Amino acid sequence: MPSPHPQNRKTVAIIGAGAAGYFAAITMAEADPEAQVQIYEVSRRTLTKVSISGGGRCNVTHHCFDPKELVTYYPRGGKELRGAFHKWQPRDTVDWFQSRGVSLKTEADGRMFPTTDDSQTIITCLTETAAKAGVQLHLRTGVSAIKIQSNETAAERTSKFQITLTNGETTTASHVIIATGGGQKNAGHALATSVGHTITDLAPSLFTFHIKHPLLEDLQGLSLPEVQVSFPPAKLQQSGPIVFTHWGLSGPGILKLSAWGARVFSELNYQCELSVNWYGGAKPDEIRSALEHSKQQNARKALVSLNPFDFPRRFWERMLAYVSISPDTQWAQLPKKNLNQLVESIANTRLQTNGKSMNKEEFVTCGGVKLKEVDFKTMQSRIVPNLYFAGEVLDIDGVTGGFNFQAAWTTSKLAAQAISADIPGTTI
Ligand SMILES: Cc1cc2nc3c(=O)[nH]c(=O)nc-3n(C[C@H](O)[C@H](O)[C@H](O)COP(=O)(O)OP(=O)(O)OC[C@H]3O[C@@H](n4cnc5c(N)ncnc54)[C@H](O)[C@@H]3O)c2cc1C
Repeated sequence: MPSPHPQNRKTVAIIGAGAAGYFAAITMAEADPEAQVQIYEVSRRTLTKVSISGGGRCNVTHHCFDPKELVTYYPRGGKELRGAFHKWQPRDTVDWFQSRGVSLKTEADGRMFPTTDDSQTIITCLTETAAKAGVQLHLRTGVSAIKIQSNETAAERTSKFQITLTNGETTTASHVIIATGGGQKNAGHALATSVGHTITDLAPSLFTFHIKHPLLEDLQGLSLPEVQVSFPPAKLQQSGPIVFTHWGLSGPGILKLSAWGARVFSELNYQCELSVNWYGGAKPDEIRSALEHSKQQNARKALVSLNPFDFPRRFWERMLAYVSISPDTQWAQLPKKNLNQLVESIANTRLQTNGKSMNKEEFVTCGGVKLKEVDFKTMQSRIVPNLYFAGEVLDIDGVTGGFNFQAAWTTSKLAAQAISADIPGTTI
């Protein structure tokens, strides 16, 4: 096939060398070898978050291959991603890496990692594939402004971009993909607003709560397998394992609650009262029956030596101390008043939170480019033709488990495919 006239050759500027930027660049360069694909990265390193993610192992995606179920892991963006996941989902991500010699393995909770347990495997794969495909990378070269030169004919609306770089130079591009990630002060958000886009309210997601409460004392390091945590005023409720920390509570159950309530908790400045059911959401009547059954069956045994809920001994001891029962009390001697207190405490302990800490393993930003302003078939802006968004810069975030990277792979894939195949977007 003859090369396109230089004037018709696509020049694609990708802003940000993270997971989304790299995946878009590779897809674009492989699909259209004539295209000129440039990645502009403000820092001196690429793929920084891939490197530190998953404790240095990189939780690339999640073993959930059903788009309908997959979207339920996204507090924001799930609805919009549904169609996108039909085009590029975790199975495609697994196959893509496999075809480049990187095998992924699945852990018991569904998280998928490279079999090497080393995020460098993913980085090497992405950087080598991009270089081989002819992607040009500009480090320490951020984008500080984009200016649109619109061209509207009866048949189509297109634009060209004049791009100002942080080194003072300017360049041009036929297509721009903004893939600058999340964060409260994100340059990509400023670029998007400068051309007419809206940024929804930003708040951190995936955090742990600071809580001081007698029931939590001296339990750091201990975990419970299934705890229900709720914030009734906002109708928020999540279940899962929780971990006691020296500052309060963490673990998947807490992180999920923080994700779904990211905006609400931010508005409350992380001061609120949570309700905790330590026995997986069991009803008070069920808890009472279990205690009464134990009272009959284990009449002569000490309370501390046996608990009907299989709680770790340290937690059960703390629970007995919290409701002021001597651990040596025999089950038969358990006063009704104390039994009632146990029911109430196990089913519904009220915990006052007093701040938050970010989860070191994984955190993301809730909020970003408003999704209604983006066509999810192509990831093209509905406001500016030839402008695309991919990754965390969008108002999309998932719970922990590989869902955030999957959103980056999917949205960047769709953006680059749309550019290379000239798939038209829709406007507002
Ligand atoms: C500690 C930690 C661990 C995580 N672990 C996991 C995990 O295991 N699994 C998971 O699914 N998710 C994880 N996440 C979330 C995941 O890393 C992000 O959702 C994902 O990296 C988003 O990819 P992105 O390409 O959109 O943005 P980023 O990876 O943030 O990349 C954006 C890039 O754009 C650059 N940039 C910004 N502004 C400009 C500019 N003006 N010009 C040029 N370049 C610019 C930035 O320097 C950066 O390199 C983790 C996050 C953190 C913080």
